[in-house]
Amino acid sequence: MADLGVARNTIQILQKYQFHFQKKYGQNFLVDERVLERILSAAEITKEDCVLEIGPGIGTMTQYLAERAGEVVAVEIDRNLIPILEETLEAYSNVTLINDDILKVDVNRIVSEKNGGTPIKVVANLPYYITTPIIMGLFEGHVPLKSITILVQREVAERMQAGPGTKEYGALSLAVQYYAKPEVVAKVPPNCFIPRPTVDSAVIRLVRYEEPPVKMLDEEKLFAVIRAAFNQRRKTLVNALGNAQGLGVTKDRVVKALEEMGLSLTVRGEALSLEQFARLISLLGTS
Ligand code: SAM
Repeated sequence: MADLGVARNTIQILQKYQFHFQKKYGQNFLVDERVLERILSAAEITKEDCVLEIGPGIGTMTQYLAERAGEVVAVEIDRNLIPILEETLEAYSNVTLINDDILKVDVNRIVSEKNGGTPIKVVANLPYYITTPIIMGLFEGHVPLKSITILVQREVAERMQAGPGTKEYGALSLAVQYYAKPEVVAKVPPNCFIPRPTVDSAVIRLVRYEEPPVKMLDEEKLFAVIRAAFNQRRKTLVNALGNAQGLGVTKDRVVKALEEMGLSLTVRGEALSLEQFARLISLLGTS
């Protein structure tokens, strides 16, 4: 089978099937062997691994994964790609293809059926329009996983990795860093894809913590407070949390908690680390 990481081979198969790209599915197919190798090496795939690939497209990365992993499960929403995938993956008996929306698939069930509940690895060139719901769905759904190695919009990768006090830092940084250690491992320009996206991309690896870096009794509360803090980014924490609907805290309590932590009463959410958010919540008495 021809290497689909080479542009001319991808074009040939797309023409053979008269495939029409669907913008609504964020279809930008990777045609760069070096980037494919970089993703695979960052994910450290071995025959011991069961890999979930989200959005295999025409099967370019799936072929690379099938060569190295023990088992691959690929979930593709676009049914027009299924006949193509059946051809490009014909040679591999370790690939299971599922034609469905990843947001509707029970990934926990896949892990128990395909890997006996042992943590899997997720590898994907993600559709950019649903990057955050996919990642947060995997983390918040407590899917057993070792790592997620993904190609995403560069700006989103930078937000996931950002620390307090930077302009990229926000609710996504904190949510990701509660579950995993992020590391941007490569930057990828638009000319590595067909069709070319309008934005730069990056490969980021998220290695799942066995234990979260902060102990929280109530994760939902943690994320509710973080969301409220960044919802109105320009507001002080006292105003953002004190006015937030459904949070059940008064401005007075926020003031007392910040004083206890030795923080200024004009501090904004963007200045607080994950540990400080956890401490703030315990002082607010909401966890
Ligand atoms: N992996 C291929 C590659 O690297 O060339 C394709 C990557 S393309 C950026 C994203 C893929 O995800 C497309 O094949 C698209 O049809 C698929 N996709 C989009 N939304 C999806 C969803 N909700 N569930 C599963 N697949 C989806």
